[in-house]
Amino acid sequence: MKNRTLSQIKEFEHRFNSIKNSSGTHSPSMATLQDEFSDFKLNVDACFLSNPYATDLVMKYIDKELLQAGNLRKTLEYYPSQQNVLSKFLSKYLDVNSKNIFIGNGAIEIIQALIHKVVKKKIVLPIPTFSSYYEFAKDDINVVYYQLKKENNYRFNIDDFAEFVNKENPDTVVLINPNNPNGDYIPLSKMRRLLAKLNIVENVIIDESFIHFAWEDDSLDLVSSTSLFNEFDNVSIVKSMSKDFGIAGIRVGYGLMKSTLVESFLKNGYLWNVNGIAEYLIRLLCNETFLKEYEDARKKYVLECRNFFRGLSKIEGIHLYPTKSNFSLIQLPQNISSSFFVSALLCEFGVYIRTANDKIGLSGECVRVSVRREEENKIILKAIASIIKRFKGVTS
Ligand SMILES: *Cc1c(COP(=O)(O)O)cnc(C)c1O
Repeated sequence: MKNRTLSQIKEFEHRFNSIKNSSGTHSPSMATLQDEFSDFKLNVDACFLSNPYATDLVMKYIDKELLQAGNLRKTLEYYPSQQNVLSKFLSKYLDVNSKNIFIGNGAIEIIQALIHKVVKKKIVLPIPTFSSYYEFAKDDINVVYYQLKKENNYRFNIDDFAEFVNKENPDTVVLINPNNPNGDYIPLSKMRRLLAKLNIVENVIIDESFIHFAWEDDSLDLVSSTSLFNEFDNVSIVKSMSKDFGIAGIRVGYGLMKSTLVESFLKNGYLWNVNGIAEYLIRLLCNETFLKEYEDARKKYVLECRNFFRGLSKIEGIHLYPTKSNFSLIQLPQNISSSFFVSALLCEFGVYIRTANDKIGLSGECVRVSVRREEENKIILKAIASIIKRFKGVTS
């Protein structure tokens, strides 16, 4: 392949930025990009953060049990079950009382519901973070940011945070674990110590959308603070299924929260907020064979994540922030801007990663790259190494 010149990449960057700007704080999808850049071939989506092996598995079940068995029509023709039915399946899967489960059209709907309903006056959010938590806050809410320290690699310090919260005295605190966009993970024992210090706060929302990718030892066993939900009555848990099960298009997630809160949500809406295919997926979580196969796909992917990060760490000139999720936040050499870097990867290699320069609380030029399947990861690593080598020292 012939290398494009600096000015050709810059022209591409110009087009990329105008698409990016029109999609707000979330990245344009690969399909949107492909429509706009019909003259380029896009190969690898390392922007979206999901486990492709889990998608393969869900596809296998949908193919067999919905398509081949002739059940798709029923799924589309009839109304899906309501929350009180669906939450029973999740109750069995999670071992949590069904009265404490609220199912959402994606975790984003649960975040919106919680932020609108439980935050009274003041919310504390560690930054950098997932933008919806502050974007959904109503105008009269005081959003107070807790800056994770760059010199500490944006790692979470529970004592410092608890002190900050005590001083600010908010009614709501949000913790994303592992955090998006950097992937830092607070181990369960530390989280328990932190929650004990936060007992004066009315609501502690823990977003565990990436928890299936975290691990505490080489067994790679699943960790989750579902147990903490039972121990601390100010804790609500938000859980997307888009990333770990690789099914963002189905739109389903759940929250664990006080039963009074679930009741108050259901009283005023959310009647058939998840569709028939989401119902199928929720029921799958009670299928032992599926769960066993999912666990294999999850561990296979976590191992692939570790391999990928090892590969990234060998590339000279970039800084990796510590992660126990399925993505890595990368700081670029000073002379390369993140939008130039992302554009160069896109037009030279068809590899799509995320610029992180729109994230508040992050400094320096950063990008976020997600882990894909093994063959794709090789392409991503090669592409990143090549662009860094070529442009290190060349001002973009
Ligand atoms: C992606 C994401 C969500 C939203 O997930 P959906 O279930 O697809 O709505 C929520 N929280 C975090 C931290 C995320 O990264």
